[in-house]
Formats: sequence, structure tokens, C-alpha cells
Amino acid sequence: MEKNLCNKCGMCCKEIPVDFTRRIIYRDGIQPLTTAFEELLVPVEEKEYVTICKCKFLEDNTCTNPEKPQICSDFPYSPLAFLPEDCGYTGEVFLKKEKLKQQVRKLKEEIIHYNALIEVTKDKTEQRQYQRIIDSHEAFIDKYKVYGSKDW
Ligand code: SF4
Ligand code: SF4
Repeated sequence: MEKNLCNKCGMCCKEIPVDFTRRIIYRDGIQPLTTAFEELLVPVEEKEYVTICKCKFLEDNTCTNPEKPQICSDFPYSPLAFLPEDCGYTGEVFLKKEKLKQQVRKLKEEIIHYNALIEVTKDKTEQRQYQRIIDSHEAFIDKYKVYGSKDW
């Protein structure tokens, strides 16, 4: 994030939901759990689908890791970041997510438009061009399927 809105609550390092079975973390969106990041984690609570972990380098809400990973320096980067309650970035991330949703809605409108063009044109080349655009739009929307993009 460009602006520093962190209020140093430390929650993003104290309560990190990790799915060790599928090797993913729910933090800056859904991220792969790397071996390097796993080494930082101390499990604190088992939940139904995830283990809540804290980072062993957090002391007095301050990071003491001399080799802080890039994903921590960037946090929160994703418009789909999972933010703890009262995180200073809540408003910023909300706006970024709304922009992403708008982009997806626009692509859905365009898909309807290109499908209509495919129906009316008899030209096979044109139809293929429209279909390529539709496929590309659908691939973009699909990237965010796990976040609910089908219903945005
Ligand atoms: S949860 Fe948000 S406000 Fe709290 S330490 Fe992390 S980035 Fe900063
Ligand atoms: S390395 Fe630092 S910033 Fe990253 S999770 Fe640990 S304490 Fe937080």
C-alpha cells in the first residue's frame, strides 16, 4: 500500500489463518503457503478448516524479523486481502475491492453484448473474434471465482 495506515495492532501477524492441508494462507487474499513462511508460524488455535497461527517474530506488536518476507512488506496489497477487525487499511481495501467488482461487472455486460453479436452475425471469422474476447473476459472473472466473482 502506498499510504501507511497501519495502526500497529499486530493482528495480521498474530492471527493468520492457515490451511496446512491445502497449503494456503488467508491473508493478502488466498496465498500459497511457502516453506519459508511456514517456518515463521506457531499454531495457536485449531478451527474447523484452518489453524490460526502467530508469527514467532512478532514482539510487542512489532516485527523483529531481520529478513521480513516481501509478502509481509507488501501487506495489504490485494483488493481481496482478509483484514482483521479495525485494521487501518479497511477503507482502502474496501475501495479497491469495489473497483475490482465494477471491472468484473463491466466484463459481464460485455460478454452479453458479444454473445448477442455472435447471434446476429453470419461471418464465422467475426464470430471467432467475439468468442475469443468472451473467453478472455471469462478467464479474468474465473480468476476471482473463489472470492465470489460469479455473483458480483
Ligand atoms: S492488521 Fe492492519 S493495522 Fe494491524 S498491524 Fe496489520 S496492517 Fe497494521
Ligand atoms: S515476519 Fe514480521 S511482518 Fe511478517 S508475519 Fe512475522 S512479524 Fe508479521
